[in-house]
Amino acid sequence: MAPKHGLKPPKESHLKRAKTSATPASRSVTPAEAAKVSFKVLYPDINMMDMYAETTSKKVLELCKHAEWQDSPFEAPYTETEKQMEMETETETDTDRTLDQWYTVVPSAEWESMKKYNNFIIQGETYKNNHFVYVRSTETPQHDRDKDIEENIKDFWVARILQVRALNAQHVYALVAWMYWADELPPPKTRSPDQISPRGGKRTYHGSHELIASNYMDVLDVLSFAGKADVVHWKEEDDSLQSRIYWRQRFCRQTQELSKVRTHCICEGHFNPEVSMYICDSPSCKIWLHKACLVDVILTRTYEKIINGDNPTKQTNGVTKANGKGKGKAKPKPYQGKLSGRIEDDSPPMIVIKDLRPGHVREWRERIECPKCETELQ
Ligand SMILES: [Zn+2]
Ligand SMILES: [Zn+2]
Repeated sequence: MAPKHGLKPPKESHLKRAKTSATPASRSVTPAEAAKVSFKVLYPDINMMDMYAETTSKKVLELCKHAEWQDSPFEAPYTETEKQMEMETETETDTDRTLDQWYTVVPSAEWESMKKYNNFIIQGETYKNNHFVYVRSTETPQHDRDKDIEENIKDFWVARILQVRALNAQHVYALVAWMYWADELPPPKTRSPDQISPRGGKRTYHGSHELIASNYMDVLDVLSFAGKADVVHWKEEDDSLQSRIYWRQRFCRQTQELSKVRTHCICEGHFNPEVSMYICDSPSCKIWLHKACLVDVILTRTYEKIINGDNPTKQTNGVTKANGKGKGKAKPKPYQGKLSGRIEDDSPPMIVIKDLRPGHVREWRERIECPKCETELQ
């Protein structure tokens, strides 16, 4: 039976929400418990080892000596074309290994003395390297801990098992790499126009059950595991997500940056799998388009044609980019208050445009053209 317990709250505040090694916080201390070791993962700068040797920092030198290399299990979000290119040119893309790193588990002697295992079993469930797991935390409300994880999924942390070591059957530890819910991301160094809020790193394209892979590591007591998580790597090659939880992006500990995701639409924005997009059917185009961007393009064009055209002394700068990259505050649209539009999801999809000017009140429907190649959407 796995006793329910929490993780110790973080002692030091990292740049982001810190996750610390597992030490039962609420269990009574028995002699066996007292023997339990709390492990910590540190990231020594191996390149500096020679310099450390000349200085007095024995502690750092010791860390370097015990350091191990970790290949991140989160492979790069390769596209088929990139894979093909790599095979043809026999070169390795250097962007795909940014999460690999040196790390040292301390206390090193205790960690290294434990035997490595390929798997372990909790409550009949077998856990192996590379499996994703739900982890109970101090942030997991007490009432959720016995409930179905599926119903309270985001009250749990998610991690990927990298290595298993055990002292005996009662003391089993897993070295893990953390996954972050998009809501847990720290704000970027420079403000991004697609941030949901200035206080957090979640972007408009992040789905509500989207996880971000990271190279933040920890050693956890496996008793903090609440079950296996079904997490898929979504490569954005299609829009049919089989699993409720997925990852497509990586967060790098060293740079504190998110990896790139595919760009779509005339705005060069991204795809939120929970918001449907339109795909141009022209075989040579196939662009994915945001609904809001389509409405914006059509209303801007209609405004030019029927309103600005009525009033030739007024000039506008033509079509505005919907939510272009790196743009600060959105400028008010020239058609605002004068025209409104909404798309009806028929086949073919149609836009209903309303002229809101006093005395002009009317409404009409139009076919929708791809703003890139002018093919009508089907
Ligand atoms: Zn767009
Ligand atoms: Zn097109």
